[in-house]
Amino acid sequence: MFSRRQQIEIKSGDQLQLMRQAGLVVARTLQQVVGVAAHGVTTGELNEVAHDSLREQGATPSFLGYHGFPAVICTSVNDEVVHGIPGTRILEEGDLLSVDCGAIVDGWHGDAAVSLIVGTGSAAVAELSSVTERALWAGLGMARVGARLSDISHAIEEVVRAAGPFGIVEEYVGHGIGSSMHMSPSIPNFGSPGRGPVLRPGMALAVEPMVTMGSADVGVLSDGWTVVTEDHRWAAHWEHTVAVTEEGPWVLTALDEVRL
Ligand code: MG
Ligand code: MG
Repeated sequence: MFSRRQQIEIKSGDQLQLMRQAGLVVARTLQQVVGVAAHGVTTGELNEVAHDSLREQGATPSFLGYHGFPAVICTSVNDEVVHGIPGTRILEEGDLLSVDCGAIVDGWHGDAAVSLIVGTGSAAVAELSSVTERALWAGLGMARVGARLSDISHAIEEVVRAAGPFGIVEEYVGHGIGSSMHMSPSIPNFGSPGRGPVLRPGMALAVEPMVTMGSADVGVLSDGWTVVTEDHRWAAHWEHTVAVTEEGPWVLTALDEVRL
């Protein structure tokens, strides 16, 4: 998995500051989308909110037109894992919605995702989202100088496995990020620790566990984008972009200044 020796882009301090600006744009946009996601709202309306937010902040959407993707956010509901296309779907009470957003500022990317329950949902669904978010933060905490890449993967898997019989999606993974949205290295959400590249200052990584309530097997709908669980049980997705710095992991897509 790590056998291809692709270079991992190293950012200067100034470049990381631009990535922080992109990350803040993403964080504010997700905050706005979360604020309006409610019963009766369509996913297409959420996309408009996100598009307006990016425009007002002078940022370019990373997703719009990416390999032909037709929107500025991904909205993935219930058994949809990632890459759902916003449209006419009306959110209903208890739905589990994940919103994924990417923005470009001066050529530098930020990428983050949140999951939320529309109104009040079941305790089991809340636990699924909570486990996925906790797994994300465990992974982010390993984005330290001198750690190995798979230490992040392992930390994520440990949290999920300890929490119960959840599935970890394997076909889709986290990624390096910077002057492009998707760069080397790939970051699986499972695996043994102590493998892969040694993390160095100036690396930036998008860490994004995708966790299901059942089997981890997924497929793609006929729209060519939407990834769904094969057993149609529900899935959560959380993501942050983190920079590896001498001062520790710097969460570039957090609304507040977060250094772990
Ligand atoms: Mg994303
Ligand atoms: Mg990503």
